[in-house]
Amino acid sequence: MNNVIYMDNNATTRVADEVLEAMLPYFTQRYGNPSSMHSFGGSVARDIARAREQVAALLGCHPEEVLFTSCGTESDNTAIKGVLSMMPEKRKIVTTRVEHPAVLATCRDLERHGYSVSEIGVDRQGCLDIDELGFRIDDNTALVSVMWANNETGTVFPIEQIAELVKVRGVVFHTDAVQAVGKIPLNLKDSPIDLLSLSGHKLHAPKGIGVLFVRRGTRIGTFMHGGHQESGRRGGTENVPGIIAMGKACELAMRYMEEENIRVKALRDRLEQGILNTCPDCFVNGDMDNRLPNTSNISFEYIEGESILMMLDKFGICASSGSACTSGSLEPSHVLRAMGVPFTAAHGSIRFSLSRYTTRQEVDFVIEKIGPIVNRLRDLSPFVAKAEK
Ligand SMILES: *Cc1c(COP(=O)(O)O)cnc(C)c1O
Repeated sequence: MNNVIYMDNNATTRVADEVLEAMLPYFTQRYGNPSSMHSFGGSVARDIARAREQVAALLGCHPEEVLFTSCGTESDNTAIKGVLSMMPEKRKIVTTRVEHPAVLATCRDLERHGYSVSEIGVDRQGCLDIDELGFRIDDNTALVSVMWANNETGTVFPIEQIAELVKVRGVVFHTDAVQAVGKIPLNLKDSPIDLLSLSGHKLHAPKGIGVLFVRRGTRIGTFMHGGHQESGRRGGTENVPGIIAMGKACELAMRYMEEENIRVKALRDRLEQGILNTCPDCFVNGDMDNRLPNTSNISFEYIEGESILMMLDKFGICASSGSACTSGSLEPSHVLRAMGVPFTAAHGSIRFSLSRYTTRQEVDFVIEKIGPIVNRLRDLSPFVAKAEK
């Protein structure tokens, strides 16, 4: 697997060298249990406390408000179900149609258990109708969950404004910030956000570690019954190497965010312009004014995203298609569908997501390869043939 050109960083990222180096000793020399009475274990507890401070520094919150979980999905599930469990009389959740499955599938399962779920729609740019969101909140509403940045299009929602509106109504607010953390600056201290999810493997820490920010005073049920770990909210011996890695990854994100954003954004714009200039009948999806700096979602009319991906793969280029073709149903992405992207274009959408490891040479290589790929696929496309008849 040499010569991989990795432009699928919204799916997962490589572990940073500094992160790997920081976590390795916790497998071998520093393997003590942080709950042990001896100092061999106790010193590990101190290292966990330090990692918690590193995460808190990136989020702009108090270390006590940082709870380690196993992934973004666990953080989302716990936030939603944990809040509901504390107010059994309230039976409604408000969310959006473009959430990650970690939130959407959780809400839909709750719907099967008698909860009512309101999913707010978006416009053609992927922007939320905030007035509609306000209207949907009623006395029966326990929780509003809205993602900070969309994983497919990179569209960034005005989360602080939304949270403010929700708090005024006295309702708990959760945001899935898995794609936002490390890419846009956050400061939770003075924000109206109650709960926020993040995931290590989306920010150059390994898979298997996540965080849920729980504002002090927010009532939330126990994640997992067991020992006193994570202030008794999530029992189970800590994933120490993962926690150390998460702390280091947050420290690095804070150090590099600004300069990375300038460089990565310039590369993303170069890639996007290069593709638009070489391929006819394609357009960018998402809110051009409020978008993650690393993400570009492009629809290529009349061809299947999967076919483009397969041909990119021959050159070692990793990207992702908007359509989730699991079970072979070739359903276009629920996000693009919610945005009203026409069927033929939603099927041919590709997401390129860059990182601090992306180089200009890689971007230029993708631009060089994509034109001929798209032309060849269009020559074979039944849609194009029909349109011309
Ligand atoms: C990846 C992702 C998740 C899930 O995180 P895991 O750590 O893989 O469980 C949730 N929400 C968004 C927006 C994501 O991009």
